[in-house]
Amino acid sequence: MKKRVLITGAAGFLGSHLCDRFIKEGYRVVAMDNLITGDLKNIEHLFPHEDFEFYNHDVSNYVHVAGDVDYILHFASPASPIDYLKIPIQTLKVGSLGTHNLLGLAKAKNARLLIASTSEIYGDPLVHPQDESYYGNVNTIGPRGVYDEAKRFQESMTMAYHRFHGLETRIVRIFNTYGPRMRLNDGRVIPAFMGQALRGEDITVFGDGSQTRSFCYVDDQVEGIYRLLLSDYSDPVNIGNPNEITIGDFAEEIISMTGTDQKVVYRDLPQDDPLKRRPDISLAKKILDWEPKVGREEGMKLTYDYFKSLSTAELNKRDH
Ligand code: NAD
Ligand code: UDP
Repeated sequence: MKKRVLITGAAGFLGSHLCDRFIKEGYRVVAMDNLITGDLKNIEHLFPHEDFEFYNHDVSNYVHVAGDVDYILHFASPASPIDYLKIPIQTLKVGSLGTHNLLGLAKAKNARLLIASTSEIYGDPLVHPQDESYYGNVNTIGPRGVYDEAKRFQESMTMAYHRFHGLETRIVRIFNTYGPRMRLNDGRVIPAFMGQALRGEDITVFGDGSQTRSFCYVDDQVEGIYRLLLSDYSDPVNIGNPNEITIGDFAEEIISMTGTDQKVVYRDLPQDDPLKRRPDISLAKKILDWEPKVGREEGMKLTYDYFKSLSTAELNKRDH
């Protein structure tokens, strides 16, 4: 009998790659999304598959799924700073009410639930690199607080269900992940820079470009999530690529990779933008025997090839 997995946020970037992976592994996939930041074109290739179903539903409202469910992966949430600043209340609701609904569903179905947490729970970190024992440095009332605090609440709620109800839960703390199917205009730095290169616009570095990020290719991320789900480890686990770079140096890499003759222009650093971010992945190495395999050069090329394949209309579409 095939196992059945519910994936929320399935029409988004990570959710759609998870749908592909679970179909490939022989699961039945129930995909759910309200399309607020996602796009059906990310999963339409799966529609003919007999083991794939899609439901257009906002998971901040009561979630009903008929039949058995073995696993739930809760990936529904705006994930780009521009998105969650634009829809702050929905962001808070899907991380809190949405998580509560899915915990309730998991309990009713006796399913194992994995939640998508984030490096943002560490806020603007005072410890570097960040390991799972760090409690974080988050401004609760700042503009990013709507995302960070929803995700922190999500972790607390999940651990409460685990401890109080004995629910099987998993928590992945995802660090900046990129790849094909990111929305070109979602405002995150990789689609932003690649879109600018393709449109022949200046490359916008926020602040002086000395802030750092560590970028993980999507296939590596999905492998880590898959292993964590099937592990017996219920405390949070960082999954990300520890190869750290300043945003200024990254802009130069993109200019050289794309061959654009555009220049870098500097814009204000958004409030509470973390100055440093790099995952300590010792725990994932130890308990999941996992580490990233795709280097930045290879991953960026695969991602740029995807963006280059988009139509002119998609390239010029603006949400913001
Ligand atoms: P995304 O915006 O591409 O995907 C999110 C999906 O969730 C979209 O399809 C959106 O329509 C859907 N969604 C949002 N609110 C919903 C709701 N109330 N009901 C149903 N569907 C809803 O973003 P992503 O990068 O794929 O992120 C997916 C998850 O991973 C998020 O939970 C995010 O917080 C987490 N995450 C991602 C990263 C990253 O680097 N990509 C880093 C940390 C955490
Ligand atoms: N950034 C930038 N130019 C852009 C978009 C983002 O310099 O056009 C910076 C942003 O200020 C942050 C980093 O790139 O320091 C990563 O931003 P992103 O929105 O991708 O994700 P974050 O890690 O901040 O959630």
